[in-house]
Amino acid sequence: MNFDSIFNSAQEAFLFYKNLPGTEKGAFLDTMADVLESHRSEIVPLAVKESNLPEGRINGELGRTTGQIRLFANLVKEGSWVEATIDPALPDRTPLPRADIRRFLTPLGPVVVFGASNFPLAFSTAGGDTISALAAGCPVIYKAHPAHPETSRKVADCIHQAILKCGLPSALFTHVEGGIAEGQALVKHPLAKAVAFTGSHAGGMALFHLANQRENPIPVYAEMGSVNPIFTFPHKLEKENQALAKAFISSLTLGVGQFCTNPGLIFVPEAQAKAFENAVAAELKDIAVAPMLHPGIAQAYYDSIQFLESREELRWVKVADPKHLINGSTAMAEIKAADWLKDTLFQKEVFGAFAMMVVYQSEDELLEIAQHLHGQLTITVWAEAEELQNQLFLVNLLEEKCGRLLFKGVPTGVEVGYAMQHGGPFPSTTAPNSTSVGAHAIKRFARPIAFQDMPQELLPDALRDGNPLGIWRMVNGNLEK
Ligand code: NAP
Repeated sequence: MNFDSIFNSAQEAFLFYKNLPGTEKGAFLDTMADVLESHRSEIVPLAVKESNLPEGRINGELGRTTGQIRLFANLVKEGSWVEATIDPALPDRTPLPRADIRRFLTPLGPVVVFGASNFPLAFSTAGGDTISALAAGCPVIYKAHPAHPETSRKVADCIHQAILKCGLPSALFTHVEGGIAEGQALVKHPLAKAVAFTGSHAGGMALFHLANQRENPIPVYAEMGSVNPIFTFPHKLEKENQALAKAFISSLTLGVGQFCTNPGLIFVPEAQAKAFENAVAAELKDIAVAPMLHPGIAQAYYDSIQFLESREELRWVKVADPKHLINGSTAMAEIKAADWLKDTLFQKEVFGAFAMMVVYQSEDELLEIAQHLHGQLTITVWAEAEELQNQLFLVNLLEEKCGRLLFKGVPTGVEVGYAMQHGGPFPSTTAPNSTSVGAHAIKRFARPIAFQDMPQELLPDALRDGNPLGIWRMVNGNLEK
């Protein structure tokens, strides 16, 4: 298969689009949000049909998607995200004069985005990856997820309506359908400048290796999941046993457990373990089975559970019902920390509503656990304030292992805002210095460039004397407008 014409058109569109003012890029994104809202009544039923997710969730997800689009619209209209930095010339400096150096972030070029199965809207066709790339100034070649083809086509159509309304080149966004071969050909194309992906570890790593084997390797921003551990402390559990069990189970089972941030691992002190287990078991009784996204994901869930059932270190608090092949049934097992520490397979994500409760005996064991833990998107600590007073060492260890460290609440429900970090050390992602949610996601699709002694009339507006865009800039080491 040959994607030359798609990439050539995208490259041509890039050379035009990258130089448009942020106000025009922002207006395009606002128009896209408006078009998507105006097609809500067509998009929602399609996504419900193709994902098995309830209408309320999909309606909310469309709101999250358009809200996210407007956040990036505002970001690029304001313009300071380019991190303009200016060191003016010092011709009289001794012993050597200083040249005029001006640096900012410039878009990469055409990028390849893979849609995710578990968010048919917010992490798919007009999802965070596509929007942050377009906001940065990059055309998107989008590989549709085969689990929701009709939804994807409909949303792609809305994106094209917005492109047309704004008089922009249609090659700013290209919708590609196909399978693994098509996805790999896109990643290998010489004009592709970066890849964004949300999905399985196997898929993310395959694309990461492929991109690194290219003649000119390109960055792959792969978000590959996480078990999102919760560390619990004795006094906190004693005081709030029921409430914490309820919060844990509702977070675990939200969306049939098909969130990359659902908590699949919880560390509980031995003295409080029995009471917590009882409270959790009571909560689990009320959770009804519900259809998963597609039969492949349900099959993978039950295969993982079946494998774990063969491990004698585990004691089952609740077994999954294997009778329904599309319905995800919750499951939970308990293990001693000493056994958990012996095999890293116990850290592997089971995509669905399964959790492992690990019972620890001492704070020393908790430190060993923290040292042993793989990279995560999130880690949550449930402790009373006084229990944390001497825990700086543990907290520092946990900080090294995750992208978002919570001291209250549950990890599901990723706020789309300016400060959000949704990423983390490997294996949760292939790029721990980036986020796939929130305003900073735009930086994945831009790179720094410095101009030295460049004539004023050739400089981008963001770097010109007089600050014509009125953005925040670092001039001679001082932040100013
Ligand atoms: P997936 O299998 O990783 O697929 C995601 C996308 O990547 C699909 O478009 C797929 O193409 C493509 N892909 C996968 N492997 C590839 C390869 N070797 N080369 C080129 N393209 C490749 O994820 P999924 O279908 O969404 O679900 C499968 C599993 O992924 C789940 O059971 C779960 O474990 C995990 N998952 C994780 C997250 C998360 O948030 N991290 C989200 C969803 C799923 P085709 O499908 O067209 O072949």
